Parts: sequence; structure tokens; C-alpha cells
Amino acid sequence: MQKSHFIANDWVAPAEGEFIPVIDPSDGSSLGEIARGTAHDVDAAVAAARSAIGETFDGPWGALAAAQRGRLLYRFSAAVSEHAEELAALEASDTGKSMKTARADVVALARYLEYYAGACDKLHGETLPYEAGYMVMTVREPHGVTAHIIPWNYPIQIFGRTVGASLAAGNACVVKPAEDASLSVLRLAEIAAAIGFPSGAINVVTGYGHEAGAALTEHRGIDHISFTGSTVTGRRVGEAAARRHCPVTLELGGKSPQIVFEDADLDAALPVIVNAIVQNAGQTCSAGSRLLVHSSVYEQVLERLARSFRALRSGPPALELDMGPLVNRKQYELVKSILAKAEADGIQVAACGELHPDAAAAGFYQEAVLLRDVPHGHSLAQEEIFGPVLAAMPFEDEAEAIRLANGTDFGLVAGVWTRDGARQLRLARKLRCGQVFVNNYGAAGGVELPFGGVKSSGYGREKGFEALLGFTVLKTIAVRHG
Ligand code: NAD
Repeated sequence: MQKSHFIANDWVAPAEGEFIPVIDPSDGSSLGEIARGTAHDVDAAVAAARSAIGETFDGPWGALAAAQRGRLLYRFSAAVSEHAEELAALEASDTGKSMKTARADVVALARYLEYYAGACDKLHGETLPYEAGYMVMTVREPHGVTAHIIPWNYPIQIFGRTVGASLAAGNACVVKPAEDASLSVLRLAEIAAAIGFPSGAINVVTGYGHEAGAALTEHRGIDHISFTGSTVTGRRVGEAAARRHCPVTLELGGKSPQIVFEDADLDAALPVIVNAIVQNAGQTCSAGSRLLVHSSVYEQVLERLARSFRALRSGPPALELDMGPLVNRKQYELVKSILAKAEADGIQVAACGELHPDAAAAGFYQEAVLLRDVPHGHSLAQEEIFGPVLAAMPFEDEAEAIRLANGTDFGLVAGVWTRDGARQLRLARKLRCGQVFVNNYGAAGGVELPFGGVKSSGYGREKGFEALLGFTVLKTIAVRHG
């Protein structure tokens, strides 16, 4: 398999003729290669997107009525569902995620496209009361051409929530998927072309972040950047955007707390707490990677969680176990080195999962790990790991729980487990993050629910109607009619 870029509804070979190997993380074997994009390829993709939009929104995509955009997005959603098994298999082989997670990602994508399809013709402005003799109104216009830099953990879902929303708002898109996981995004662009999206509405340039990604963020033909990935790269993207005053949305991960009070329904909480860290092998920006437990139930919670962790299995995606391998060697070595440091620092392992006997030795498998009594200031409690590692620590009272929960550089999501209604609301208001879940974690994904962070978790919102607003520019028109 050798894949070129997908630009203007066609496969386009990389200008410099180079390709990047694609590795199957379940056994280290080759899946083929993808184009190594450079600034030339980015130029071609941006030019295609600009002509789809047109100088004054008069291009084939820019001039399309909102209702027609909506119909196309509905058709896209249906086509995704028709290709569900193929897309899930592609995603599972490329990223290593279990087939059951990959299938769920495809269902979420279809739903994102459906949600944004229905929103296209409901995105309206207002009329404003003003001085006599004026008629003042606001209109929401697309930015023009939006760039989408997508990471490797959820390519299909992140395509849905950023590209879906941007298209619905009327923008043309240039997408740069991660070098480790580009196959599903390329296939999605091909499917969109086949069902009637005009040339240039969706373009995909693959390649390395420092080459294709950097060229895209610096390109003057880009009117808005949506970035999901690490804090370090997010800062670089933000700086590149600031140099030319380009609006940007950054979704940069977290160190999200799951807080268990003494009155929590543990039967309900514990399976959710486990899933919140092992889902996608912990490679989830909103993973519940810190566990804060009231000291009176700490030992009981740890004992029960240890039993659950020992039963977790990592293995090939097709076996549909709790976890597949990590995405690549770099991530695998990073997680191993973090665990080695934990051991050297004397941090206790409360329990580990197991590798399935069919997990190839050359695959990037990491069993689930439950760590206990992790000091709040330790890097394990402060830094994102992006692996199936849960750091548990006790707290004495509500004030300490809040202080610990808010005590990192991140602020993406938080989970709170308590039956006390007033405490639920106090916590919900005092936690510094973008989403708070009370007696659940993640609310089953909810495409309708605005998502994003504060502090180093980033800014701007994805998902829901809020994301649509971010992909528009508000224009005020004042007419003096006397
Ligand atoms: P990364 O942030 O470097 O990569 C994310 C995307 O950005 C990829 O498409 C990459 O090609 C692109 N990119 C890289 N450098 C770029 C640049 N200079 N300009 C523009 N685009 C660029 O992430 P990574 O190195 O693949 O993973 C490292 C860590 O990031 C992980 O361990 C994890 O902690 C975090 N991460 C977070 C998320 C999330 O959902 N928030 C997703 C993936 C990784």
C-alpha cells in the first residue's frame, strides 16, 4: 500500500517524491507508506481549498446554500455508516486500538456529521436594537480555509468534531493527520469526494509535523487553525498562528482527576474509573489519570480496583480485549521510562494487568498499571503519561480534594463521585476545567457537549454548537436608513 495526498478530490503524489513507512503497532510489521508532505504539497492543498471557497465565497463550495451543505453532510454520515467495518479495521490496524473502540469511533463520527449536518441552516445572526434611523444585524460567516492538525489517538473522531463542524460552518478544510495514523482520514476524504463534495472542500496532506504541519500553520492562505495534540507542539502552533494573527483552537490533553468521596456508590463508580483510564490504552486526552479518594474508603477502593486491574488484558486489536498496543515505539518507550522512574522513586504498584499470549513480542504492548500513594508533587501526578497508568492518592476533606484536583498545569475534565447534592454543585463550580462529570465520567462521549480546556489544556471549544461558532466570524452590519 502506498498512499499519496488527497487534494482537490484526487490522489496527488508528494512534490518531492518521498514517503513515510506505516508500521502496524500490534507486531511492528509494515502496512505500507504514506506521502511525506512538504510546503509544496501544502501550497497545492491550500490553493484547492481557496478555489473551492472562492474570492468572495463565490466558489463551488463557498456559494453552496446552507441547506445543501447540510444534505451533503447527512450523506457523508450515511456513507460513513455504510463503510463502518472497513473504516474501523483501517483505524485499528493503523493505531493499534481494539476493534471495539474503533467501531465506537466510527459510530461517533457518523453522529458528529449528522449533528453538524442538522446545524448548517440554523447558524444565524441577530438584529440589534440601536439608535433611530439604523438597522443593525450580525451575520455569522465562515473563516474561509481552516487547517486541522489531528493526532494519532482518535483520528476518526477528531476528524468528525473539527472537520465536520468547520464544513458545516461553510469553510473549506486542509487536514494534516498524524504521521502515525493517516489512513482513515485519507479514506474519509476519498469517500466524501465519491458522494459529491465539491473539489477542494476537503483536502488531506500527510507527513511529519515539523514539515507538513509547520508549513500548514505558517501558511498565509489559512484563516483558522484547529490543533489537537501535545502541549509542546500546541505552543509552537499557537506561536505560528500569533505571528500572523490567525485564530486558533488548541486541545492539548490533561491530567484529569476522578474524585471519590466517602459516600460514593462504589459499585457504580469503580468500573467507570477503570474504563476512564484504560480506554484506548490510556491514550485519551480526557483520560481519568489521577484518582483522588477520601482516606476513609481509600484502602477499600484500592483493593477493589486492584482486582479489576489484574483482570485487564492487552492484546491484538482483533481479539477485542480491554486494550490494544500503544500507537508507536516512541510512545511505548516513553511510558516504559515513566514507569521505570516511578519504580526508582519507590512508588508502589498496587496491581498490573496482563498481556494476552497472542500479543507479539515486537508489538508495543503495555499492561494496565495501578500506582498507589503517589505524591501530589511527583511528575506521575502532574504530567500527562498517555498510557494505561492510574495514579491514586488519598485526601482528608473536600477542600483538599479541590486543591489536589486543581493543582496541576492542566484543566480538561474532572469526575466527581458523591451522593451529596450540594457537594456535587460546589465541586462542579470550584473545579478549574472544561467539563465536570458528576457520578459518571465522559457522559458516553456526547457529541452535543462542548469540550475543551483551561490552562495548559488549551483554549477554544470543540463539539456541540459551541464548536460551530468557533468556526465562524461574526460580522456586524449597520444600515443607516434615516
Ligand atoms: P504532537 O502534538 O507532536 O502531534 C500531534 C499532531 O501535530 C500530529 O499531526 C503532528 O504531525 C503535528 N505536529 C507535530 N509538530 C508540529 C509542528 N511543529 N507544527 C504543526 N504540527 C505539528 O504529539 P506526539 O508527538 O505525536 O505525541 C506526544 C504526546 O502528545 C503524547 O505523549 C501525549 O501526551 C500528547 N498527545 C495528546 C493528544 C490529545 O488528544 N490532546 C493526542 C496525541 C498526543
